[in-house]
Amino acid sequence: MPDTTLMPIPGHIDPMPVPRANLVEGVTPREDGRVDLIGLPKKRIAELFEAAGLDAKAAKLRAKQVFHWLYHRGVTDFADMTDIAKAMRPWLAERFVIGRPEIVEAQHSSDGTRKWLLRTADGHDFEMVFIPDADRGTLCVSSQVGCTLNCRFCHTGTMRLVRNLTVGEIVGQVMLARDALGEWPNANVSSRQTPGPAEVLANALSTNPAEGSPAVPGQARDDDWDEDGGSYSADGRLLTNIVMMGMGEPLYNFDNVRDALKLVMDGDGLALSKRRITLSTSGVVPKMAQCGEEIGVNLAVSLHAVTKDVRDEIVPINRKYGIEELLQACADYPGASNARRITFEYVMLKDKNDSDDDARELVRLLKHYRLPAKVNLIPFNPWPGAPYECSTPERIRAFSDIVFEAGISAPVRTPRGRDIDAACGQLKTAAERKSRAELERLYAEKEAALG
Ligand code: SAH
Ligand code: SF4
Repeated sequence: MPDTTLMPIPGHIDPMPVPRANLVEGVTPREDGRVDLIGLPKKRIAELFEAAGLDAKAAKLRAKQVFHWLYHRGVTDFADMTDIAKAMRPWLAERFVIGRPEIVEAQHSSDGTRKWLLRTADGHDFEMVFIPDADRGTLCVSSQVGCTLNCRFCHTGTMRLVRNLTVGEIVGQVMLARDALGEWPNANVSSRQTPGPAEVLANALSTNPAEGSPAVPGQARDDDWDEDGGSYSADGRLLTNIVMMGMGEPLYNFDNVRDALKLVMDGDGLALSKRRITLSTSGVVPKMAQCGEEIGVNLAVSLHAVTKDVRDEIVPINRKYGIEELLQACADYPGASNARRITFEYVMLKDKNDSDDDARELVRLLKHYRLPAKVNLIPFNPWPGAPYECSTPERIRAFSDIVFEAGISAPVRTPRGRDIDAACGQLKTAAERKSRAELERLYAEKEAALG
């Protein structure tokens, strides 16, 4: 049956943008009355199509097709959806859009790291970072604009929370990264961006062997990918892993992060395996089990200290959920095992948390709770006005050796993208310097709100 017969009002075009606020509950249309499909699950898309006039069966079929185009092929224009009847494509474009966060600035580091400053439709800036390695490419995704928490070594902690990012803004980061890396299958669709001369040059000059090196044709670098008959472009498959380690505390925006990651994992779309996604939390204990049950991704915990006094100071959420409670929640985390270890992040702060005793206490705690653990030692990345310094390389090495000798992996994370200020957790371009008094006032407010 031709598509047009499924449409009750074929060819009808509203002369004026019409607000469709009541189309489907929970979906807010844009000012022009159209609805952004990015961030909506297939079922929601079908409901919207039905509310716009398709019969139930057609709505379901079209939603399935459109979902595939959006998340598997990455198209940003309904005109590219070639298996949907030509007459229906403008009908869709009249009512819906395929959104992306706006790119304010894109930077490319000499080590291949890329950073994007992004803007929401209502004008809030946030960032994402892509870090290529020899065997993987990791996208560091933000969950909030700012953060309600106030870890003392973190630049995001000096910002007020502006708002939670929406599902579309979270999954939109992954879509944008795939646009920019040119790795949607079938390069002939218009959304595939050909690298410009600057990008080609940057790739050629990159010191990282993974960056710009063609994958072996027909040989998947990663068996988690939903292969499409080998049609990925040669420079594709750069983005293999996602870490929720950008701006914000993902477990304080749980529902949106969960729904966005479900879209990222959907086998009909982006199809990234949960084993390649890691969510990092500062220790929002009451949400951790739910995270394991409802999302099922790898867990990283920003531990950073092993005594109450020090953790209370540098990760103030510790005053609410202490180390013992946090480690017990880690021990109970659904899905954690020796094959899927929990990562403990530990930022190395000179004379604060970096002694041999701290390292030994870390080992004792991880063993006491029988945690399948690996430890990531992160050299502190300073920012203007930060009250700490990074530990010396010798101290970091000594700390790492103690943990390693106890049988726990403790690699030192190499700082990446330093020339473009790209460290995860420190993702704000214009580092506005606040005075110590301003910072103390802000921290006091945040702690009062924390309760
Ligand atoms: N809010 C979450 C995720 C975002 S922070 C969390 O706290 O886990 C991601 C990681 O970057 C955390 O481990 C954080 O402690 C670390 N980080 C933040 N600021 C940093 C800095 N200046 N130097 C090094 N690591 C930092
Ligand atoms: Fe927020 Fe994480 Fe930074 Fe702490 S480390 S202030 S939780 S973003």
